[in-house]
Amino acid sequence: MASKSQHNAPKTKSLNGKAESQGQWGRAWEVDWFSLASIIFLLLFAPFIVYYFIMACDQYSCSLTTPALDIATGRASLADIWAKTPPVTAKAVQLYTLWVSFQVLLYSWLPDFCHRFLPGYVGGVQEGAITPAGVVNKYEVNGLQAWLITHLLWFLNAYLLTWFSPTIIFDNWIPLLWCANILGYAVSTFAMIKGYLFPTSAEDCKFTGNFFYNFMMGIEFNPRVGKWFDFKLFFNGRPGIVAWTLINLSFAAKQQELYGHVTNSMILVNILQAIYVLDFFWNETWYLKTIDICHDHFGWYLGWGDCVWLPYLYTLQGLYLVYHPVQLSTPNAVGVLLLGLVGYYIFRMTNHQKDLFRRTDGRCLIWGKKPKAIECSYTSADGQKHRTKLLVSGFWGVARHFNYTGDLMGSLAYCLACGGGHLLPYFYIIYMTILLTHRCLRDEHRCANKYGRDWERYTAAVPYRLLPGIF
Ligand code: NDP
Repeated sequence: MASKSQHNAPKTKSLNGKAESQGQWGRAWEVDWFSLASIIFLLLFAPFIVYYFIMACDQYSCSLTTPALDIATGRASLADIWAKTPPVTAKAVQLYTLWVSFQVLLYSWLPDFCHRFLPGYVGGVQEGAITPAGVVNKYEVNGLQAWLITHLLWFLNAYLLTWFSPTIIFDNWIPLLWCANILGYAVSTFAMIKGYLFPTSAEDCKFTGNFFYNFMMGIEFNPRVGKWFDFKLFFNGRPGIVAWTLINLSFAAKQQELYGHVTNSMILVNILQAIYVLDFFWNETWYLKTIDICHDHFGWYLGWGDCVWLPYLYTLQGLYLVYHPVQLSTPNAVGVLLLGLVGYYIFRMTNHQKDLFRRTDGRCLIWGKKPKAIECSYTSADGQKHRTKLLVSGFWGVARHFNYTGDLMGSLAYCLACGGGHLLPYFYIIYMTILLTHRCLRDEHRCANKYGRDWERYTAAVPYRLLPGIF
């Protein structure tokens, strides 16, 4: 497939005017039948999967099997379930419009001031990674500021202003789902049309010739409106990830309203997920160098995924705990907390080690020693040769994606906080395992194409992907 792809790759002009074949290390140029089948499956069923989970909580106390059994045995019909589903409401539309507009405003109109007074925080105008076409984009990194302002307002409202109830998100959860879907589909469709008609950087567009693949995985690499409104950074971070912690707070407020107290499991879920979210915003500049921004094109996968999948399915633990107020024993609560914190430590340190190593070009210490690395070279679309290094010290010497392992440990902790009563809160760990394993394979395929023999030397030096001796 690699040589066939080379053949189909578009030609772009190099700096010296010669036509060059564009580098093969970005998103796929051709679609195999398995990818196509998966994409069509997801396009058709992902919105129903989200609906099923949320409906199961709303109508069946978070049981995943009862609705299916009820339908199978004729105790309920799809029409019955649909009839009991809250429709979109004017209030939800107003809320959602206000929410997204506020985030757009914070993203586009308020340059970062946090980096001026927070020691160690890197914000303001920052550069992304070099794209396959050799472009380096600039970003206004102000996510931490948006998160802080949004949460400050939330707490001001909850404790002082009382303009609205903190349970507002829970109370409008299904009507808001319809609004999120409308935005998700609208933005993905716009991105597709924009990719064909007025792309931001034509050299970085990819067309596979397959409509569904283009729609799902995106055509444009870094679609923008104007100089600064970057779709990937905005949709990845703002409406979904800023909302994540607010959604959890709203679920905690609902527990308080219903039962007169907040359970330790709900507190654990709120704290562990807030650490993850805050970490994301504290390290937003680092995030510019991750796969989402560096390699993924912007299509339905990111557009709809960030608007719907992320806020609705990443918050299932909090939602579940509203219906099942689990109170963990102290040893279990401590166990969950430790697992979450150790997972987070591995996740953060692994990411930090690579970032430090790449930023300082290896002039740093990893675990107290000068890092070992494998020298690599690759060619970008403009025909330029570049040199880089792959780290083989620290966590990067333990496994090739130990950051994913830490992430999975943290994810498991959120699920375990919900006890063993139902499968629904465990969806997250199942999904993350599939996502990160697939991502690992996808990334390694790309790296193998990018670095060729040098990648083989790296995989020989660090033979395992996630768990030494196992995978
Ligand atoms: P990585 O941060 O692991 O980045 C992979 C890239 O790093 C490779 O493409 C390669 O890029 C470079 N690289 C690989 N090996 C080495 C090495 N040994 N030394 C130096 N550079 C190397 O992956 P992601 O961007 O996917 O993930 C970032 C974090 O985000 C992870 O911790 C992950 O768990 C988390 N994440 C969370 C998700 C969620 O939904 N919660 C979803 C996705 C990710 P290059 O071309 O530059 O060499």
